[in-house]
Amino acid sequence: MMAIAGIFPVAKWLAKIKQRSDVGCTLCQRAREQRGATMENLPKETYGHMNSAFCDGIATTVTAAHHFIWRHLYASMQAAKTPASKLRFVTPDKESSMSTLWQEKEIKQICSRKSLTGKAAEIDKTISVEKHERERHDFDPTMFYASENRFWNPRLDGMAINKNHRTIYILEFKRSSDRNEDFLGVKEDEANEQRRSIIDSLKAAAPEWTFE
Ligand SMILES: [Zn+2]
Repeated sequence: MMAIAGIFPVAKWLAKIKQRSDVGCTLCQRAREQRGATMENLPKETYGHMNSAFCDGIATTVTAAHHFIWRHLYASMQAAKTPASKLRFVTPDKESSMSTLWQEKEIKQICSRKSLTGKAAEIDKTISVEKHERERHDFDPTMFYASENRFWNPRLDGMAINKNHRTIYILEFKRSSDRNEDFLGVKEDEANEQRRSIIDSLKAAAPEWTFE
């Protein structure tokens, strides 16, 4: 109930009303204690943090929730397909990495792995480095961009293909609180940004197809 109302007493709020002196996340702290990790740079305990996979203490739970809900939605989308629909769901029951997907015969015909790798290398340089990649990037930028894994390792929530319309949909499922009116737009932008490298590279490698 408190979570729905958004009034869960997180450290940041408790500090604001002077009931706590530090704002470090208690869940992260506990998780780090258990594995004997350093307490340096403990993330701030905010409502958003505690509901995200960035929180050490809750990551397993939110990831499980994501997969559980997504599997249900995915199955529902397939069940709702009309017999005339030409839409095919390529990854029906599990997340698949780009690398696994490009082993499928039908997918490989759209564009070769080699040309896609080439386009991705060009496009990746124009895309800002994500927070969790920052350390690797700063360590050796040349190596970072040369790494094919940045493109091929990400796991997609799903992919749907319509051969007749030459369209591919990269599916990304986001859980979100709907307290803010603009949550749909915010999450859509987030998903598009997250998959921009993949979508832009595909567009460049297979211009006769549409990717969304
Ligand atoms: Zn945390």
